[in-house]
Amino acid sequence: MKPAKDTRLFLHLKKWLEQAALDYNMIEKGDRVLVGVSGGTDSLVLLDLLSTPMLHLPHFEILAVHVDLGFDPAHAGSGALQQFMSDNGHTCIIKKTDIGTFSHSPANRKKPCFLCSRLRRKEIFTIADEQGCNKIAFGHHRDDIIETLLINMFFAREISTMMPNQPIFNGKLHIIRPLAYLSEHLVKRYAHERGFPHIPNLCPTAPVSHRMYVKNLLRDLEKDNRHIRDNLFKAMSHVKLDYLPQKGNT
Ligand code: SF4
Repeated sequence: MKPAKDTRLFLHLKKWLEQAALDYNMIEKGDRVLVGVSGGTDSLVLLDLLSTPMLHLPHFEILAVHVDLGFDPAHAGSGALQQFMSDNGHTCIIKKTDIGTFSHSPANRKKPCFLCSRLRRKEIFTIADEQGCNKIAFGHHRDDIIETLLINMFFAREISTMMPNQPIFNGKLHIIRPLAYLSEHLVKRYAHERGFPHIPNLCPTAPVSHRMYVKNLLRDLEKDNRHIRDNLFKAMSHVKLDYLPQKGNT
């Protein structure tokens, strides 16, 4: 593994990770943070950055969790991830499940993603509770937040997205997204520079998911307007409620 420290990209990512954490009060002294590691490189970048000394954030502890969805009966992805964790001195809990295959079975009458993400989250919440963690960090970056806004508008008829710091269970637990200010492009570049492993996602729904549809759409729109992602991200902080139709107001 190549060393991370002091490259321009590393310093840039650290600066904006800390800025997002400060702006949204993500980390408090003594927090125990469970980092959700999906197998994709984004969450490995998050784990790597959170493991390095912080300039402006108070002391906190981290451990990682990976929920194996069971698409590969041999669990090769989990094995590779376990190796990465021990090579890099990370503590990681690996939970083997059949969530992915069950979500695609005839027993599930809902869309696979709906059940799969619900059950995966439930597993992570349980592990957070068992491990005494009060924060769960996910590797969602700025592009994930933009895509989710569009997915929710296009397919769920609502204007909403992933929150950088979202309290749940009456604030007993918080979901935090420290990569919220960082673009997917830079996160992937850092993962490449560091030689992080890419664990393939064997889910049959992934290539045809709503997320993939929106990703491709944004890529096309960006050819005509290179500011489109920036504009969408900033639009979320400039909501003019007076200019949105609300029944009963007029
Ligand atoms: S794309 Fe596959 S792995 Fe991802 S949430 Fe949907 S069903 Fe689960």
